[in-house]
Amino acid sequence: MRRWIPIVLAATVTLTAAPPASAESSATASAAKGAVNCAKVKCISLTFDDGPGPYTAKLLDLLREHHTKVTFFLVGQRVRKYAKTARGMAREGHEIGNHTYTHPHLTSLSDDEVRDEIVRTQDAIRKATGKEPDIMRPPYGDTDERVGSIAAELGLSQIVWNGSSRDWELRNTAAITKKVLGLAKRDRVVLMHDVWPETVKAMPKILTTLENKGYHVVPVKTLLRGRELNAGEVYPIGGWN
Ligand code: ZN
Repeated sequence: MRRWIPIVLAATVTLTAAPPASAESSATASAAKGAVNCAKVKCISLTFDDGPGPYTAKLLDLLREHHTKVTFFLVGQRVRKYAKTARGMAREGHEIGNHTYTHPHLTSLSDDEVRDEIVRTQDAIRKATGKEPDIMRPPYGDTDERVGSIAAELGLSQIVWNGSSRDWELRNTAAITKKVLGLAKRDRVVLMHDVWPETVKAMPKILTTLENKGYHVVPVKTLLRGRELNAGEVYPIGGWN
């Protein structure tokens, strides 16, 4: 995984200053999840890439038990294989983004190939869920101005992350749990992968602990304050760390 600082084409999102503690304590965990205001309460986004896969249905069960919504960045060819799971994600109110059709390094492809990777995935997701995403995540976080302009042309914002579970390296439930909980910070966008069983097994403890610490686990667009995202632009502003 190479580290790369994204080019922010037009920084228009201003993160709201943290509110006083009293505002935070007034929001209870029982608040309607759809109404979470991340300017007022402590939010974190857990994002799951590369699925759907064989363990995703189990993850959906766990998320339902915790009344929690997350963001999934789906690989188009897997959506075809696990269409029912993709449909379940949408039905249960999770946020869905485009993660290309074959998971290539987009910066090494031609313009037409980049477009094809994105458009085929939009089609696959629309067929499975009835709706096309307006967010995408470039595989490996590998993007540049050219990829950004193609994303803009197709009406998609780019969502990266600022905390990585490194679950694909750890492949150990206890280690993934520790890593994610160590990353927990207000407004953080955490990168995870539901294609690994160890990651899904780590989720009950991760969710329970985050809840106990007062976090609202929300989809990325909720965390970004529901503002209008600009197509092509990279969020969260500041990128990886
Ligand atoms: Zn990926």
